This record gives sequence, C-alpha cells and structure tokens, in this order.
Amino acid sequence: MFRLMRAPDVMLGQHWANLLTQAGIPCHLTNRYMQGGAGEIPVDQCGPDLWLENAHDKIAAMRLIEGPADTTAGTGFKWHCDQCGEWLEPQFTSCWQCGAAQPHP
Ligand SMILES: [Zn+2]
Repeated sequence: MFRLMRAPDVMLGQHWANLLTQAGIPCHLTNRYMQGGAGEIPVDQCGPDLWLENAHDKIAAMRLIEGPADTTAGTGFKWHCDQCGEWLEPQFTSCWQCGAAQPHP
C-alpha cells in the first residue's frame, strides 16, 4: 500500500477515491469517519488518507485528482513540499505537514 496524499476533507477524499476507482486504480480511503466526534485527535490527524494498492499508479492517480488545468480559477496548481514530500493545494502558501513555505509562489 502506498499513501498517495491526505485529503483536506472527507468529501473531497471520497471524490478522489471515486475518480480513481472509476479509472480502474485500486485505492482505499482511510480515516474517513474521524471527522466530528474525534475530540482527542489533533486536527492534522483527522484528514482522510488516500492509499493506492500499487505505488506505480501514483502518476496516473495524481493526474486524475488534479484534473485538467482550470485556467478560470486562477489559483494555480498543486505544489510539492521539498521538505517532507507532501502535496499541497494551491490555496496553501505553506506546508501543513512541516510548515515549510511554498518554494515557488
Ligand atoms: Zn512539508
């Protein structure tokens, strides 16, 4: 199993899992029931993790999740943290995992 990324919320995580499943990529969403009533778990531990059964599906999975470039939104693309390897949504300017600043703003 290969942890692809952590979704910012359960709905988006489930959406990603559906996309991958429809594309024939075996995947699993974990922690999806943690939100709400998870009082003792730190917030950054609550997001659903998206796992791939096969690490070699990573590139295809990321393409599916990122989708076609949306030029109307103007928010840019996902970016990759140089420090810890986390993938971040474009609206974040620093890494939620390790706090590093976005390398290419
Ligand atoms: Zn990081």
